[in-house]
Amino acid sequence: MPIIVQKFGGTSVADSQKILAAARKAIRAQQQGNQVVMVVSAMGKNTDLLVDLAHQITDHPPAREMDMLLATGEQVSVALMAMAVHSLGHKAVSLTGAQIGIKTDSIHTKARIQSISTERMQQLLDAGNIVIAAGFQGIDEEFNITTLGRGGSDTTAVALAAVLKAATCEIYTDVDGVYTTDPRVAPEARLLSRISYEEMLELASLGAGVMHSRSIEFAKKFGVSIHVRSSLSDTPGTLINSQPESPDQPVSGAALTRDEARITVCGVPDVPGSSLAVFSRVADRNITVDMIVQNVAENGKADISFTVPRGELKSALEAVGEAAAELGASGVLFGDDVAKVSVVGLGMARQTGVADRMFRALADEGINIEMISTSEIKISVLVARDDAVRALRAVHQAFGLQDIPTITDYSLTHGAAGGAAKRAAASARAATDPADVVARLQGVNMEELVIDDVSLDQTQARVTMMGVPDTPGVAAKTFEEVAAAGIFVDMIVQSYGHESLASLTFTVPADRVAQSVEVARRLADTFHCKGVTSSPSVAKLSVSGVGLRSHTGVAIRMFRALTERDINVAMINTSEVRVNVVVDGTQGPAALEALTAAMADVRR
Ligand code: ASP
Ligand code: MG
Repeated sequence: MPIIVQKFGGTSVADSQKILAAARKAIRAQQQGNQVVMVVSAMGKNTDLLVDLAHQITDHPPAREMDMLLATGEQVSVALMAMAVHSLGHKAVSLTGAQIGIKTDSIHTKARIQSISTERMQQLLDAGNIVIAAGFQGIDEEFNITTLGRGGSDTTAVALAAVLKAATCEIYTDVDGVYTTDPRVAPEARLLSRISYEEMLELASLGAGVMHSRSIEFAKKFGVSIHVRSSLSDTPGTLINSQPESPDQPVSGAALTRDEARITVCGVPDVPGSSLAVFSRVADRNITVDMIVQNVAENGKADISFTVPRGELKSALEAVGEAAAELGASGVLFGDDVAKVSVVGLGMARQTGVADRMFRALADEGINIEMISTSEIKISVLVARDDAVRALRAVHQAFGLQDIPTITDYSLTHGAAGGAAKRAAASARAATDPADVVARLQGVNMEELVIDDVSLDQTQARVTMMGVPDTPGVAAKTFEEVAAAGIFVDMIVQSYGHESLASLTFTVPADRVAQSVEVARRLADTFHCKGVTSSPSVAKLSVSGVGLRSHTGVAIRMFRALTERDINVAMINTSEVRVNVVVDGTQGPAALEALTAAMADVRR
């Protein structure tokens, strides 16, 4: 019999009527011929109330006791839910994390799942029960209660779906599903019928707070198909699996991260180890760095720019100050009035002329771009915070995200009856070998960092425009011209422009470098830039996997491995599922070797 996992968030179990409504949904699914596992969060704002209570007692509650306290929220919900199912005439058994056998590490308040036993749940299901599992909690080796971090019930639900080989994991929440952007910021946002794991991961990390990022990482890793739906209505919701909504659409969603701050370390010697010196100090303070942009060196000195959450600016500046002194950097610039606007889409990896559409939309609004960083499936720009909402809406509009895509059926574009979607879904599941999942999970950390691949691309060249005026429209014009020449641009970085001059670097196929330089020179004349430099061959190294962001050490590991081999990093970009670095063309194989060795212990 197929198994369905149904997760109900706090708002979906906020009072007795809602608990009964949730119980009815589960019973209905059982009557349709499924075995049903419910995963339940604490009622309403109960977790917040418990946190509050703890802080009324002390400013520093011990983490172990915090977990002891917070786990009670879910215990209340599961007991009431089981009673609700009983009252409706059906069988149910509630279980805490410990009773299920959800083993975690001992990092209280943000524990990671190590293994889950399925026997007890399976026996209860086979005996006709609805199993009601407490979300968000587990138990460590010493039988201490642990919790998975705020919002962690999603992760419990997806993990249970993975080990039980569930047909689907339904997430019931107070929104209708996943939108193209935050509807509170842009009322024209549209509900997506589906979205791919990678896109969802990028959007979740950008603050599209529909689901806990870790739960999506899990789902991707184990091929769990997720269905996000409203608990209040019977609307179709959003499917999250390996497929984007439309195979033809370059962009699936847009997001705004409002509270960002930028830091630039100026005049850093362009030698191996400089990036490591800066970012290892920042990482030591547990600050997540984003949009790392290093401009290409002039006279042996480079500028390293990056963003941090605004609230962490002070602490990041301390870290950077130390590094700057050690490196003999010429200065540190910063600003805390910026926001990041990003577009995300699996489709952009295969198309030309995507970035320039975004830049054009911003230029037409007169919005200046302070920094640019792109990865295979994401383009992010930094803009003034005052421009942020206007920027988001302009970009959303430019990619037509408010309109329902005309082609959403994969079988139409890929021929063959039955559809490529089904085949792709089948192969995604085959790749994760569901029959083996349970076996593989025992004794391994389910949430451990997993690297799928370390690869080298030696087909690209670099072009840099130096001293680009830091004014609206420059990036738009540049990449429109490059796209008009039919040149596929892979990476783009624009450094923060101090003294009103930025540098704009991009990579192109090596056999198009001469033509790209020509275009860049022509533009450099128009913009009165300082000049154009290029490198006929660069090596791009990519480390891809799952959990690259929640395990912030990945980029540091890469910097360290390259520094040890005396290899200089010229460009870098990061996303949820991939970190790319560009090094000199002659150093590709050595860099590949260094990175492969550095990642060996976390390789799938
Ligand atoms: N009750 C926990 C929280 O609010 C877990 C969850 O809701 O997912 O963080
Ligand atoms: Mg909650």
